[in-house]
Amino acid sequence: MSRIPDAELARLKRDLSIEQLALAHGIVLKPSGKNLLGLCPFHDDHEPSLSIEPAQNLWHCFGCQQGGGVIDWVMKAEGVSFRHAVELIRTAVVSPQLSVVSTTPTTQQRIVKHSRTTKLAVPLPGDADAQQWTQVVMDDYHTTLTDRAPEGKAYLANRGLLNNELITTFKLGFANCTLGYRLPRMETTEGAVIRGTLQQLGYLRPSGHEHLRGCLTVPILDADGHVTEMYGRRITHGRTPEQPVHLYLPGPHKGVWNLAAFTNSSELILCEAAFDAMTFWVHGFRHVTFSYGVEGFTADQLTVDGHPRSVHTQHTYLVTLRSFFHWLTKQHCLPSSPASELTLPKLGSTLPVVITSSEAEQILSQMDLTSPLGLRDRAMLETFYSSGIRRAELCGLLVQDVDVSRGTLFIRHGKGNKARMVLIGERAMERGKV
Ligand SMILES: [Zn+2]
Repeated sequence: MSRIPDAELARLKRDLSIEQLALAHGIVLKPSGKNLLGLCPFHDDHEPSLSIEPAQNLWHCFGCQQGGGVIDWVMKAEGVSFRHAVELIRTAVVSPQLSVVSTTPTTQQRIVKHSRTTKLAVPLPGDADAQQWTQVVMDDYHTTLTDRAPEGKAYLANRGLLNNELITTFKLGFANCTLGYRLPRMETTEGAVIRGTLQQLGYLRPSGHEHLRGCLTVPILDADGHVTEMYGRRITHGRTPEQPVHLYLPGPHKGVWNLAAFTNSSELILCEAAFDAMTFWVHGFRHVTFSYGVEGFTADQLTVDGHPRSVHTQHTYLVTLRSFFHWLTKQHCLPSSPASELTLPKLGSTLPVVITSSEAEQILSQMDLTSPLGLRDRAMLETFYSSGIRRAELCGLLVQDVDVSRGTLFIRHGKGNKARMVLIGERAMERGKV
């Protein structure tokens, strides 16, 4: 769990007034010198034992000897842990409508020492589907980063990425282990169902812990804005060496980051890691994406508008990409090829479409026979049509390979690098002679 910075704690202790909390509890406060006196809500008080010092924002009870600052008050009043209290105060300070004091209605309420009650609003009903919960998690992490996680912002600033447009466009977030505070109690049916869904999605581990805790989160969104994958970069102090720095949700990677890059530009910058790609992005290179680590290139990265390209296009692109990475590796620009594990899509074989003889004549008559190039082109097409040889075979054809008397072509390097003789029609031979 990430440590709450001292400056943040100081801010929270300053921004929420104990006097306001006490008044919201229904406690009547009367001035006494610099302090305020009232009935203590934490013991059965019959004479005002609670003393609040507004200037210092501190409280003390002469009856039950409890006291402290605003966090101590919320811990005691709500029966929650220090961390939970901080989160409640953060939320209350940021969103006053979720006032922390509203959950404790009367001064007579017995304080439960280890309450497991959720004090924050449950974001969705229990029958919400997986996609909705995915959205909730993304929004929660995003709001945590923008409103309640100075440590996350500090990390981004350190990497030169504290950029509002970046954070908003890509819904960057921070997972600080407070997601659970927004869920119904674990012991309830609803709470169990929701936790089960979040475990299946990979956001919660079987232990109940958040999978991406302490991580800056980078969701991968499809064309409809739905989350298909989430990357987490652990930033917390005190992380042990066995804790991985880079995390993804369990299961195969799905989707590509920055879909717009795939549609708005004919070029694409492919980075190995998310933070490299975001660095390009904030510096104006918007046609950038990242693969899932050095070995992490996926076929999804060849999609357009979230829809896969045709199998043939994928095949063509992937072969080019694989050759390029292979070349980079040979040039020692990369330690290993990110595309080495790439499985090429299987191309189906279809019967060729055959043109009619009149269509063939139409094509052959397109050439301008008054120019040398036109004559050459006509001779080439006549040879193709007459002999059925391949493109590369025609390119390799030498004058001495044409036997006019026999009406044959000698193919030196044919399919499978084998030589062969091919018959050629009289008409093509005539055209060739000219
Ligand atoms: Zn008391």
